[in-house]
Amino acid sequence: MPELPEVETTKRKLEPLIKGRRILDFDRKILGLERRGKAILIWLSSASPKQYLLAFHQRMSGRLLVVERDFKDKYIRRRFKLSDGKDLAFHDVRKFGVVWYGPAKKVLSDQYFRTLGPDALTVSLQSIKNLLIAKKSGKIKSFLLDQKNLAGIGNIMADEILWKAKIHPEIKISTLSDNEIKTLWNSIRAVLQKSIKLGGSSMRDWFHPDGDSGGYFERRRAYDREGKKCFRCRSKILRKKIAGRSSYFCSKCQVI
Ligand SMILES: [Zn+2]
Repeated sequence: MPELPEVETTKRKLEPLIKGRRILDFDRKILGLERRGKAILIWLSSASPKQYLLAFHQRMSGRLLVVERDFKDKYIRRRFKLSDGKDLAFHDVRKFGVVWYGPAKKVLSDQYFRTLGPDALTVSLQSIKNLLIAKKSGKIKSFLLDQKNLAGIGNIMADEILWKAKIHPEIKISTLSDNEIKTLWNSIRAVLQKSIKLGGSSMRDWFHPDGDSGGYFERRRAYDREGKKCFRCRSKILRKKIAGRSSYFCSKCQVI
């Protein structure tokens, strides 16, 4: 499932391909793109004072592509005609993706946007501290995965962040020291920025809008490395189901 780095990569690559074009289906000009959590917002011009939005959540397997008008693919669920003769296409093999269109206020009143926490890439240390204090109970991995706490982190990034911070995924939030919270905050930004720089993680069916693939997956440190040696201490990486998801962590440098 595309996480923050994949959605940010999609946004950055898609913007120069479609900004300034008109979407003929709505007769609206594309003013700019924005990422919110794991969703992409396309801001559209409007004759009325109301701002309009076309927005996408890629969920499990969605991809946004710019394709020739005569390009056919059975997994293209929606397509929008652009003024330059091409189409903006939403390609979604597993059909879990979400598409919104309408006045911005209405789109952003959807529960997904209303309940989204601060963005994981730009959240301040103080905000993370406040969020953790407000939570009191629960485990850190569940905290990171809940989009109401922080927006953008999924299973791969959570494992990579916790490995970098040397924090066990099942550690209780209430036992984290100030130093550990600071290390966690630094790790969140470092891992997300590194993944964005590498164009995200391409697993199975996620690629960039221009067909390129991301390079983070080959450079990962913990996720999907069960039984392999830790890059830091050479101990074994373990796998355990936590918060309903497979979690990968080092048996020696991430202990409770
Ligand atoms: Zn280790």
